Amino acid sequence: MINKSLKQLASMLAGKEISSVELTQEYLNRIDRLNPEINAYITVNPDLSLAQAKAADQLLASGKATALTGIPIAQKDIFCAKGWKTTCGSKMLESFIAPYDAAVIERFNAAGAVNLGKTNMDEFAMGSSNETSYYGKVQNPWDRSRVPGGSSGGSAAAVAARLCAAATGTDTGGSIRQPASLCGLSGLKPTYGLASRYGMIAFASSLDQAGPMAHSCEDMALMMNVMTGFDERDSTSLNRDKEDYTRQLGQPLAGLRIGLPKEYFAEGLDAGVAKVVEAAVDEYRKLGAEIVDISLPNTMLSIPVYYVLAPAEASSNLSRYDGVRFGHRAAEYDDLMDMYCKSRAEGFGAEVKRRILIGTYVLSAGYYDAYYLKAQQIRRLIAQDFERAFEQCDLILGPTAPSTAFKAGEKADDPVSMYLQDIYTIAVNLAGLPGMSIPAGFAQTDGLALPVGLQIIGNYFDEARMLNAGHAYQQVTDWHQRMPEGIA
Ligand code: GLN
Repeated sequence: MINKSLKQLASMLAGKEISSVELTQEYLNRIDRLNPEINAYITVNPDLSLAQAKAADQLLASGKATALTGIPIAQKDIFCAKGWKTTCGSKMLESFIAPYDAAVIERFNAAGAVNLGKTNMDEFAMGSSNETSYYGKVQNPWDRSRVPGGSSGGSAAAVAARLCAAATGTDTGGSIRQPASLCGLSGLKPTYGLASRYGMIAFASSLDQAGPMAHSCEDMALMMNVMTGFDERDSTSLNRDKEDYTRQLGQPLAGLRIGLPKEYFAEGLDAGVAKVVEAAVDEYRKLGAEIVDISLPNTMLSIPVYYVLAPAEASSNLSRYDGVRFGHRAAEYDDLMDMYCKSRAEGFGAEVKRRILIGTYVLSAGYYDAYYLKAQQIRRLIAQDFERAFEQCDLILGPTAPSTAFKAGEKADDPVSMYLQDIYTIAVNLAGLPGMSIPAGFAQTDGLALPVGLQIIGNYFDEARMLNAGHAYQQVTDWHQRMPEGIA
């Protein structure tokens, strides 16, 4: 059961082979057994989940079920969910119970899906290893001494360890794709503006985007059908016709032009990862794709640009945590200013403070032009790189992350090396493009075979084509079905 696709689970539910309550209970039992070590979930609430499952069973019985009705989905703890503790990985929100649902949660609820629990994450989604979470690190199911990636590391570990049928994540600079790569699953960051950010706790608003994390592209297409759509409560939500993301699945790839950016296969890429990605490219050749060499010359500027813009936006977004309306408030203080200072000093962790300091600095009157404005100009150049590339190709392929999963603690004291995890993913966010990672094999790391992700980048709104390209690959390979040892 734990290896069934969403479609198979839906048909088992429809055929009454299993009820949603039974399915949910099965996952809750697995969580009970495995989560104390893996720590993929911050909050499970069996009462709330089982009540939803019961309602889903009624919906199934009444014949009004849709594709995800009754299916247990793990939700990243960045989404407000009514009645659920919603922490965003921070001490600041340790006792915050969301009074309303995020748009993404509303959509899953309307589809009759079951919220199985809230997954662990880097604090305020800042990190690439899940180690900045106030709720402790998450184990990578493939090797428990390694990180699952971040910031959606809890969701990635939950999917990899079969502690949910599928999960949600958010991606500001790589937080869906990099953990998907490190944990051997599929993850998609949609075109900016397709999934509403309403009720999704803000990190860097011009970059944040929610997306699915699952085993296969077919599963992700079904999740996308639920997660996306116009929402007038998010001013950056795009008002477009609703799409069916499964519509291209099964189409042949003959004639598809795939671009390989030379900058993605240069220095800094682990040799084992490079080999896996090259083998995947060969597979695409066999499927009939035409491979073209392209260049994204400003790739190297994406990390410095991101670490000006994302902290700038974060410093503004995080100013709302002042101890007054919600979140942590210091127990003792002298006056209002002291209350602000102590509440923020106590509530935020070190990485979040570092980002607030950088962001405040680059936005300050004397440095705005030199840093913030300059970074915005380079952001435009990075987007133009892709515009030019997509004149030569339909999709771009490359590695998702420069390495396989690293050891917990290995990069914790070296922020710059941690930031380099996102060298191949961040430009996609800066340009607002869709990007996804799918499992493409394993690379030897310290004598262990660890998962490697293949990144597929598409032009704006080309998710259906990307999902089909991934699906075609998943029809001729079985990497996405492999299971880590010790979780059965
Ligand atoms: N690792 C990047 C950061 O720390 C990206 C995180 C994300 O995508 N949320 O900011």
